[in-house]
Amino acid sequence: MANLDDLPIRNDLKGRKPYGAPQLHVPVALNVNENTHRIPREVIEDIFARIAEATLTLNRYPDREFMKLRAAFAEYLGHGLRVDQIWAANGSNEVLQHIFQAFGGPGRTALGFGPTYSMYPLLAQALDTRYVNASRLERYELTPEHVREQILTHEPNIVMICSPNNPTGTPISLSCIEAAYDAVSQVTGGIVVVDEAYAEFAGDGAETAIELLPGRERLMVSRTMSKAFAFAGARVGYLAADSAVVDALRLVRLPYHLSALTQAAAEAALAHSGTMLSMVDDIRFQRDRMIVELTAMGLDPYRSEANFVLFGGVDDPEAVFQALLERGVLVRNVGIPNTLRVTAGTEAETSQFLSSLREVLGK
Ligand code: PMP
Repeated sequence: MANLDDLPIRNDLKGRKPYGAPQLHVPVALNVNENTHRIPREVIEDIFARIAEATLTLNRYPDREFMKLRAAFAEYLGHGLRVDQIWAANGSNEVLQHIFQAFGGPGRTALGFGPTYSMYPLLAQALDTRYVNASRLERYELTPEHVREQILTHEPNIVMICSPNNPTGTPISLSCIEAAYDAVSQVTGGIVVVDEAYAEFAGDGAETAIELLPGRERLMVSRTMSKAFAFAGARVGYLAADSAVVDALRLVRLPYHLSALTQAAAEAALAHSGTMLSMVDDIRFQRDRMIVELTAMGLDPYRSEANFVLFGGVDDPEAVFQALLERGVLVRNVGIPNTLRVTAGTEAETSQFLSSLREVLGK
């Protein structure tokens, strides 16, 4: 048996490790910002029915343009979006990969405001795109002036803005996104990608960058069914943008990248979006409860509009991580000094996390 070093892999892949948080089987898994609530029974029945129907056609390739699913996303997102403005793939990671494939490449630069989603530099690296980790202000906030200044300094071709931001939870205002678009238009004529993976947790009537799409053909907004929709295992992410952007992404996608089974399952889930999203209020409630209780423990949670909380004030994050794990609670050490990140789970899971943490910290 050979090992990796014996193979003639690309030079830039040598010595690298595959990305991914540990997948441990524990009673309370709050480490990868999933929705920990099960899919409601009535939706499961419809998913089964539609998958059964799709199974009858599995001898044929699926609809390569997944028009029915795109129509369902357009309807779900609203804002007058048309089908030709929607794209989708196997998770928003793949949507982002399509974006880097189409708009990145040698000689081009992507910029993210760190700390942010750790896949951005990895996608850049895999596609030979330089990555700049731009700074944030106090408590990971951004202002339009700061965004503008960073973009004018680094002259990126791709600007990644995650809102609410993973791993900090920080929401980014639409004025920051407008500033990013104006600044990048001035320096390179590049694109601005707003990653709204956690948008549904931001509260009713919260702003979305979708509002900014008209007149901005190089702005794109990516979303996922993995979080609020409780559909992480199905692998469905999507995007709204100008139809020309969708044409660009169609150049790099593999033909038939969304299986008939995936399309059927996602269509069923979207047909029940109200039911699928019914747990979002409770998750937000648990998030806000964690912020209050972590503060009461003398810790320092950051403002969050996502389904997770990053909290500071932890003297030894690795020791606390391990002690929680021994109690059956899995959180995430994202490598920011003195912090840990925890996903808002069900009421019982959240209570278990909080009581275990109190015990570990002796509070
Ligand atoms: N964007 C952000 C900010 C994320 O946190 C994640 C998942 N952790 C993703 C995109 C990708 O999610 P998925 O591929 O499951 O849609």
